Amino acid sequence: MKILVVEDENKVAKALKEGLESEHYKVTVAQTGEDGFFQANAQGFDLILLDVMLPGRDGIEILKTLRKRGLQTPVLILTAKDTIEDRVVGLDSGADDYLVKPFAFSELLARVRALVRRGRTDQVLRLKIADLDLDLVTRVVKRGAEPLDLTVREFELLEYLLRNQNQLVSREMLARDVWCEPTRATSLDNVIDVHIARLRKKVDQSFPVRLIHTVRGVGFVLKEESSSVEASTLRGGGESC
Ligand code: CA
Repeated sequence: MKILVVEDENKVAKALKEGLESEHYKVTVAQTGEDGFFQANAQGFDLILLDVMLPGRDGIEILKTLRKRGLQTPVLILTAKDTIEDRVVGLDSGADDYLVKPFAFSELLARVRALVRRGRTDQVLRLKIADLDLDLVTRVVKRGAEPLDLTVREFELLEYLLRNQNQLVSREMLARDVWCEPTRATSLDNVIDVHIARLRKKVDQSFPVRLIHTVRGVGFVLKEESSSVEASTLRGGGESC
């Protein structure tokens, strides 16, 4: 877990760095707004602790610019200001949380943990197996550098297989979770098979390593040839219909 601390007061910066490092976070300190802005853009952090009163560009201005550029990293604002107005400005600018100085380190740690956790669940934006890569935000699917042109249903199907990779996925699961049909019908099995065949053509046909495998009489599994299948895990994939 990498944390960027943007704080101009030496003593506070040092205490934060040492405290967080003793909790096994990797900490980078920036002591000016400019450097903080540069670091936040240059490296991928899991969390940014941002002081508001900084020489040069202040924390709020930096935060607004970072958010405008699309940076999603959770930001915890640290400031001595304690009026309701300042808190509102901070949160309106894209901060995820707000801590008023002086604060107890244990409280800071609790908030850091909460934000890192939240950030991590939000970050499942890509699904991968071998050289296959599915981006849930841009909806771009690639094998290696080669983009694959999938229909909406093929995309959903592949997403489901990726979420359940190395596990058997039955037609029943696909009917329920991808087609949202509570009861399985033979006609739907045929539709599923047709879609799998088309998807397989796009995903596997021009590539040396096959990823979509049929398990006769049961269903399918997305895996790299060498990895084993957990046959005992015929379970739901948690999709919502
Ligand atoms: Ca300051």
